[in-house]
This record gives sequence, structure tokens and C-alpha cells, in this order.
Amino acid sequence: MILKNGVVATLDPQEVERTDLRIEGDRIADRGPALAPAPGEEVLDLEGALVLPGLVNAHTHLYSALARGMPGPGEPPRSFVEILERVWWRLDRALDEESVHLSGLVGAIEAARSGTTVLFDHHASPSFVRGSLATLRRAVEQVGLRSVLCYETTDRNGLAGRDAGIGENRAFLAGGQTALTRGLVGAHASFTLSDESLERLAGVVRDENSSLHVHVAEDRADVEDCRKRDGAGLVERFRRHGLLARRTLLVHGVHLSEPELREAQAAGAWLVHCPRSNMNNAVGHAPTVAFRRAALGTDGLDGDVLAEARTAFLKMRDSGRADAFAAAFEMLVGGHRLAAATFGLPLGRLDAGAPADLVVLDYRPPTPLTADNLPGHLLFGLDRSHVRSTIVAGRFVLRDRRVTTVDEAAVFASAREAAGRLWERMRQP
Ligand SMILES: [Zn+2]
Repeated sequence: MILKNGVVATLDPQEVERTDLRIEGDRIADRGPALAPAPGEEVLDLEGALVLPGLVNAHTHLYSALARGMPGPGEPPRSFVEILERVWWRLDRALDEESVHLSGLVGAIEAARSGTTVLFDHHASPSFVRGSLATLRRAVEQVGLRSVLCYETTDRNGLAGRDAGIGENRAFLAGGQTALTRGLVGAHASFTLSDESLERLAGVVRDENSSLHVHVAEDRADVEDCRKRDGAGLVERFRRHGLLARRTLLVHGVHLSEPELREAQAAGAWLVHCPRSNMNNAVGHAPTVAFRRAALGTDGLDGDVLAEARTAFLKMRDSGRADAFAAAFEMLVGGHRLAAATFGLPLGRLDAGAPADLVVLDYRPPTPLTADNLPGHLLFGLDRSHVRSTIVAGRFVLRDRRVTTVDEAAVFASAREAAGRLWERMRQP
């Protein structure tokens, strides 16, 4: 297939060029102006539509897809820990196989409609642990996106619950990964994990040559718990347990100090910045000025990475950063680098040999669009309403605004019914 007359833009390198792309199998086979179609080759004239590499959501919770509009907790939570106890831990305990599968389908469809092609998911369903990651993989692959899955290990459901979580991560890493789906070792957060639990997680990281994906210092309560537990900071605690290796995903880092951030990144860890979630939970604003290797995550709010980038920019400006514009753009680039390193593929590039993971947007810029001002168009002009088509590994997931891989209306109808049953189970004590 040839995509003709697209305005092809990449973030890294920062380029904008009107050109054609030839897609063969799961790769971009050729790039150049006026590519001549081979006999029988499909030609799709984009008529100047914008083509971007698929965006990367570096931290989300697909399981929250059926939470939208659910009844709130009786008494308003007064702290971050109360938000977890009264909302999210009630929801995740009520999840069963069907609701996990439907959450995955809905979340992946909404991501595709937002131009997101790679999801780093952090999953919890304590009543349905074993096989939960394979269920999510089935859902995300049915829609056709790439994902990086893990199970959120925690002590809060007892030792058997913890061991089930560790076992699920281990089993998925050993036998669940595919071309589109990779695994990581998931952990909830330091404040719900004992030293023994961290040792066991470190064992899986070592055995499977993988990395940890964990919430860190999202709220001050995590920092205080760690001080009380062993008199150390969070980065020190993870380092001591051998969990700060390459590509460890430290999510939030709102209350990490600058020396801690330097140490973690020097060890190879990535920070994932989730500004909309941080505002939603009123936990504070991350010290992004010390984020050197960072990507953006929606933390389950939706699949909209462009909205996350815009909020990241506005929040950084609001806190007085003069370089907020470049910093927010750099976090979008960070997502591509993180995904490329995770999949071992040049994701984020749109030239010959790169994976055909791209988004076509109905974006008619009212001003000139150049390589230099691409960040301005991304942060002030583009949003998910512009997404026309989404292609992952050479396959249309969304084509001319229609989901091509699953019956979207049927999925959403089933999801509405399952959400009602899920909310009913949440009401049970
Ligand atoms: Zn999260």
C-alpha cells in the first residue's frame, strides 16, 4: 500500500516533509515523493493530511475503563490513601475475567481513537489474577495495538494475593509475550510492599532479564512510609533491592528529591509524568525540572496522550518554567524512545525499515507547519478529534474514523452492561 501526499512529521528527528510512504507487511518499505505504485498495489491519497508516528502512553490502567460515571464513594476521601481504599481498590477487587477483557477492548479502542499505538499498562484484578495478563493481551491485540503489560504486585491482599501477582508477572514474561505485546514486572508501590516482597520481585527481574514498573512517591504518604519502614528514601530502597536497573519505570515521582531523581536516572530508570492524574488526586506537581529521561502517562484517565502533553506543558508553565514548551515536547519524544527500547524497534521513526505504526490526522494548519514549529502545532493545535486513521504494524486499526478490527458498537454495548454488574459488585462489602 502507498500512502500518497501525506505531510509526514516526526518528533525525533524533528522533521516535516510532504512525501509518500510505502507500507509492506508490518514495516515502512519506502519513503519519497511520487512513489510509483506496483501492479495491484493500493494507493491511498491523503491529500495533505498530517501523518505522525503513533503516540506512546507510558503508564495507564486499562482496568479503569469501566469506571467512568460510576457512583462515588459515600463519604468524600480526605487523602490519597483514602482515594485508593474507597475507589480504586474497591473497583479492582470487583473485576472478573469479562470486565477485564471488556476494559481492555474499550481502553484500546479509545487509545486508537486518540492516536496512541503503544500502551504501558499496570494491571490489578485481585479476584482474577491468574490469566489476567493474557486476557488483556487478547483484548489489546484484538483491537490491534502494541502493549507492555504487567501485574500490580501488592501485599494488600495477603501473602497469597502477593504471590499470585508475582506468579502472574513471571508466567507472562516466560510465555506470554508476542510481537505486539511485551511484559514487565509490575508492583503497586513501596508502601504496599515488604522487603521480602521486593526481594521476590527482584528475583523475577533478574530471572526474566526484565524491569520493574512501579508507582513511586505519587503522594507524600509513600515517602513517609518508606522513611518509617527503613529510614531510607524510596530510590535508596529500590536500589538496595536491585530494582533500579535499566528501564525501570518509576511512575509519578511527585515527591522525589532532585538528588534521588538524578540517582535513579543515572542507574537507567525512566520517569513517567502523569500531570492530569496528579491534579485529579491533588498530590502535587512533580519536580519535572530534574526529569531527564521521561515519558507521559495518562494513568487510566483515558488514552489521550496529546491532552496529557498539553496539560504537562501548562502545568510546567504555571509553575514558572521558561522551557516548559521544549520539556513537554521532549516527553512525547521520550515515549517513542522508551517504546523503541522496549520493543527493540525504531518506533517513532517514519522511514524505510521502521515499523508502520502511524496516525493520519485531519489537520489543516491555519499557519505554516514546519519542522521548527511542530511543537507549537502539537501542543496548541492538535487533539484527538483530528485522528482519522491509526495503523499499527502495517494494519489499520482505525480507518476513516471507523474501527476496523472489532465491532465497536457491540463492544461498547457489552461494556455498558458489564459496567452495571461491576458497579453492583463494588457495592457489596
Ligand atoms: Zn497508576
